[in-house]
Amino acid sequence: MSSIDTIIRTAPAESCTPELAQGPWTFDLGTPGYGPGASMGDVIPTGSPRQGQLPGEYQRASNDELHERIRAAKATLGERVVVLGHFYQRDEVVQHADFLGDSFQLANAAQTVPNAEAIVFCGVHFMAETADILARDDQAVILPNLAAGCSMADMADIDSVEECWEQLTALYGTEPDAQGRVPVIPVTYMNSSAALKGFCGRNGGIVCTSSNAATVLEWAFERGQRVLFFPDQHLGRNTAKAMGVPLERMPMWNPNKPLGGSTPDDLADARVILWHGFCSVHKRFSVDQIARARAEFPGVRVIVHPECPMPVVDAADEAGSTDYIRKAVAAATEPTTFAIGTEVNMVNRLAAEFPQHTIFCLDPVVCPCSTMYRIHPGYLAWVLERLVAGEVINRITVSPEVAADARIALERMLAARPTV
Ligand code: SF4
Repeated sequence: MSSIDTIIRTAPAESCTPELAQGPWTFDLGTPGYGPGASMGDVIPTGSPRQGQLPGEYQRASNDELHERIRAAKATLGERVVVLGHFYQRDEVVQHADFLGDSFQLANAAQTVPNAEAIVFCGVHFMAETADILARDDQAVILPNLAAGCSMADMADIDSVEECWEQLTALYGTEPDAQGRVPVIPVTYMNSSAALKGFCGRNGGIVCTSSNAATVLEWAFERGQRVLFFPDQHLGRNTAKAMGVPLERMPMWNPNKPLGGSTPDDLADARVILWHGFCSVHKRFSVDQIARARAEFPGVRVIVHPECPMPVVDAADEAGSTDYIRKAVAAATEPTTFAIGTEVNMVNRLAAEFPQHTIFCLDPVVCPCSTMYRIHPGYLAWVLERLVAGEVINRITVSPEVAADARIALERMLAARPTV
């Protein structure tokens, strides 16, 4: 298997920062920000979870020793633990995962191991929250490094969204139109805090994933005159544009400005109000990179994630979720050259798994997700060995009230079906 550690160590000049070669524990104490990687320039909100010092024995251990200790702890725990690995996670961690997938696939996969007392989520904070919402009360969801947040999810906090909602309610009122459609339906991307999923549940809204965003928007347009979409502007814009919504009817909501920076007329005419959020991993992809790939590899098939900016999605051959990308590569029967616009760990893993194809990341600079990077085998060994010792550490919990509201929004998503 390819390894991001190996790539970064052997070609440091081709990574976005040499700090990636250091252990993530270097950044756990006292370092502001998300740590090295694509989100390193983003502003981390005050009050974000912090990770304390990883015990020195795990920092000093070699990868071989850590792998041995992880395997031994898992063998001792047996079905009492399930380890989940996100597609964007480094190979050194993924090799220990019982399930590999996107955030929602993983939260559901955990439910197929009913004897698991602990769900160790090798992903980021909002994913662990979703797993806790769907888990039984007696199951503990563990995030090996508490600093593994998500810069995009952090761009929409519950206070700012509540404030936005108040302004929109004052502008639109609450009365339905002649077709029974309420003025605005809130839609949150799965990549958001449990508090925002709860907000949607409480306010007639719904959750979407990058796989079902169009179906969810159809659901919302049947019930509302317009949609407030958060936190990812790009997924919202790319999806609504593909459904025929004109760009001028998609104003942006900047939470730092009155009325989000739009005029009352713009908002009155809006079909989709886009929150000012983005993923710093997918923002790195550009039309120039696609042009270079096409020049170098005539006939290349370019697939990008819909979190990429609209011009990139427009210039690509296809756009789809991580699951879509994986299935598209797996389904190619002839040797094919793929240029892929998503997180580099996933792209390198596809390249190793499908050697009959030429597969490369559109971004020539190795720049992984800063927060996925914070999970390392050292933390996984630590939380598992504490479990063996009878101690649950780094547990992620969602309050019962928020979880109940969030479950409503998630259930609406599961019930939403394409209309064609
Ligand atoms: S890739 Fe982007 S959306 Fe996914 S966890 Fe990282 S910052 Fe968040």
